[in-house]
Amino acid sequence: MTFDAIIVGGRCAGASLAMLLGRRGLKVLLLDAAELPSDKTTSTHFIWQSGTGCLKRWGLIKKLEATNCAPHQSYLLDLGGLELRGAVRANEDGMSQSYAPRRHVIDRLLLEEARAAGVEIQDGCKVLDMLRDGDRVAGVSYRDRQGGVAEARAHIVVGADGINSTIAELVGAETYNYRTKSQQIFFSYFKGVDIEDVEFYSRPGRMGFAWETNDWEVVAGFCCRGEDAKAMADDVAANYWRELATMSPSFHQRLKSAEQTAPVRMGGTPSLMRTAGGKGWALVGDAGLNMDPVSAAGISNAFIQAEMLADAISTGLDQDALDQEITSFAQARDEKFGPYFEFTADLAQLNPDVPDEVMQLFMALPGQQADIDAYFGVFAQTVPVTEFFDPANLQRIIAGSAVPSQTA
Ligand SMILES: Cc1cc2nc3c(=O)[nH]c(=O)nc-3n(C[C@H](O)[C@H](O)[C@H](O)COP(=O)(O)OP(=O)(O)OC[C@H]3O[C@@H](n4cnc5c(N)ncnc54)[C@H](O)[C@@H]3O)c2cc1C
Repeated sequence: MTFDAIIVGGRCAGASLAMLLGRRGLKVLLLDAAELPSDKTTSTHFIWQSGTGCLKRWGLIKKLEATNCAPHQSYLLDLGGLELRGAVRANEDGMSQSYAPRRHVIDRLLLEEARAAGVEIQDGCKVLDMLRDGDRVAGVSYRDRQGGVAEARAHIVVGADGINSTIAELVGAETYNYRTKSQQIFFSYFKGVDIEDVEFYSRPGRMGFAWETNDWEVVAGFCCRGEDAKAMADDVAANYWRELATMSPSFHQRLKSAEQTAPVRMGGTPSLMRTAGGKGWALVGDAGLNMDPVSAAGISNAFIQAEMLADAISTGLDQDALDQEITSFAQARDEKFGPYFEFTADLAQLNPDVPDEVMQLFMALPGQQADIDAYFGVFAQTVPVTEFFDPANLQRIIAGSAVPSQTA
């Protein structure tokens, strides 16, 4: 079997890339070890505007909304005694909404689009090894659904196979910017909760959150520092409720009076970057760039990378040109995501001692709506981290100057 591209991993990174390449007429094989589509239990589903902008460009927003997935328009940040409310201003695609589809919904949608674009999808197939031509990756061997070992060849093999990427290991991709897991997320699902659109609660060493997913179900929980999470692991449910009550009695009360539809779950990951490509291979999504989930950016980042890599691959499959494009993709990925990676890693520390400058910023923001919106825009990646946190911009906000900083 010979393809233009083999993609290993068929969730938000792999299915998006497969769809984009299929739509451009490439012959694509998508392999996944799991039965797809299926839910992913370690996800809180949020897709910021940087990601929903991709869905809009791909023509998928109406199909997403048809799954009973409501758009989010407004954001509350409760800092304990200080509340900031804002919106994310539309990016260049005109997307001001975020969404939080369950993974069996969004992954299914992307897979259906990939299949409709002509992609051959084989789930239940675990990639075992690489095929090589000299120093180039030239394909994969995999265990097929019948338990046999099959082979497929392609101009490029893409690892979209998550943080523990088999492809990254087989090609020896270098890991850099590694940060150990510093925080853990506790979350559950509720029906009949009265929430403002998207809610965040910032407390020393904690970050609470709630937003609607599909079918009017809300996911709600909190992030907490790793050492505190360890102490909570012996009675997750009791500690979940105790933490929420301490964080915000009214938030706790609203959730308590709703119907809890799932047990409390826990999840967290280290952060890392890996070399994004080489001769005949590339990495996309968590396989190459895994940010701490505290910023809820992994799905959006996967979509953006899928677009970047689709552009690179579809430029041409001639070996030298492809190698050059993959090298450029790798550089562009690090340039694009580097500052946000550091911002997220910093946020994930959930530092209970908030630096003076940050406290001054929060105290100065009320009344400066354009800047509050820009702050939410940093999370949505519609406002560059470097621009918002530029010392001159921070000084301007702290001085109470009303010049808007939003660029998007
Ligand atoms: C607790 C928690 C909450 C999160 N919440 C959010 C959030 O709210 N918003 C957000 O944007 N992100 C969130 N994330 C991050 C998000 O889940 C990931 O960034 C995203 O799933 C990455 O997608 P992916 O397609 O790169 O990889 P994955 O979703 O990990 O998919 C990888 C696929 O590769 C397949 N695979 C692996 N090895 C092989 C192999 N050898 N052969 C064949 N197939 C293979 C797997 O079966 C899997 O289907 C959260 C993460 C955690 C841990």
